[in-house]
Amino acid sequence: MIYADYNATAPLRPEAREAMLAAMQADANPSSVHGPGRGARKLIETARGQVATAIGARAQDVVFTSGGTEASALALMGITAQLDGKCTFLISAIEHEAVVKNAGHAGVAVETAYVTTQGVLDLDWLRDRLARWDVARDGLPVLAIMLANNETGVIQPVAEAAAMVREAGGLTHCDGVQGLAKTQVNVGLLGVDYLALSAHKVGGPAGCGALWLRSGAPLKPVLFGGGQERSLRSGTENLIGIAGFGAAAEAGVRDMAKLQGLSTARDAMEARLKSEAGVTVFGEGAERLAQTSNFAIAGFAAETQVMAMDLGGVAISSGAACSSGKVKRSLILSAMGVDDGLAQSAIRTSYGWNTDLSDFDRTADAWLEAARRTVLKENA
Ligand code: PLP
Repeated sequence: MIYADYNATAPLRPEAREAMLAAMQADANPSSVHGPGRGARKLIETARGQVATAIGARAQDVVFTSGGTEASALALMGITAQLDGKCTFLISAIEHEAVVKNAGHAGVAVETAYVTTQGVLDLDWLRDRLARWDVARDGLPVLAIMLANNETGVIQPVAEAAAMVREAGGLTHCDGVQGLAKTQVNVGLLGVDYLALSAHKVGGPAGCGALWLRSGAPLKPVLFGGGQERSLRSGTENLIGIAGFGAAAEAGVRDMAKLQGLSTARDAMEARLKSEAGVTVFGEGAERLAQTSNFAIAGFAAETQVMAMDLGGVAISSGAACSSGKVKRSLILSAMGVDDGLAQSAIRTSYGWNTDLSDFDRTADAWLEAARRTVLKENA
């Protein structure tokens, strides 16, 4: 089976497995003061250092969470709590539900920040909106912009957007979940105030993630209890998951050049699908992650393609599979102005650390075979 669904979950890296097996031997609570407890603490601090290094940050500014969703929830709810609700969220139209839904539950005004037809945050729109900002009415501007989109792989102009927001006295939260170890992530260069990360997108385990926050950035905790993680995220740390996350982040950044090298094979696959079947590739005109491809041909339902590819030995996702596995309308493609008919045929292939270059050809072979049996035959 060819696995082409890395943006959903990347297979566990051997480095992560090894670190997790070692952490399983720790048998202690990292808050305990005895020797075994101190041993467990050491593993957590090693991982914190690894994650921090992967994003060019200081270890003490990394807060471990249960994943990317919780990291964004902590940022958005925590900012709101600290600012007493005196803020307005500007949420980019292509954000993941982890951001959209938590912003919606924070109890403050939410506005959509528009994107271009290539799925890139519209900086002109942002500039104009910030110029009309009225702090007395709107409170502080808080922008949420992801680093790279999970469906299209389109990389966002985060540094430019964050600079504008900073100039306007506001804050920027970046969902960096799909960017880590795929494109350069340096919190200083990005100039954001918060960055959410997830272990299972980089070859670590699911159920573990982190929020980085700039020193001094406003944030109140949303979980209360034992005061772990500088009291910003109470609850005994997921030692095994965190150890795996640290190792995966380190290995991912080490191997990033190789991953970025996949773009040649990805582009060749897209060129073939375009010339042999006339597919539309979404976000093609923008800077994209090297390992993601989202494409469609009208009339070939995404669900049918996912099943046909599965039978053909290639694991992929529809652009917008939800947690139940059902295909739903992609809000991201809608935001890019793609018509509903075409959007319903969009599928995503995404590759990663264990991808062989031949996987791209085999993906194209399986897809073309399925298309020729169905939609291309009807069109012929
Ligand atoms: N943000 C983005 C862009 C994602 O792709 C995902 C996972 O699908 C998440 C957040 C959620 O991360 P997690 O599964 O660790 O909660």
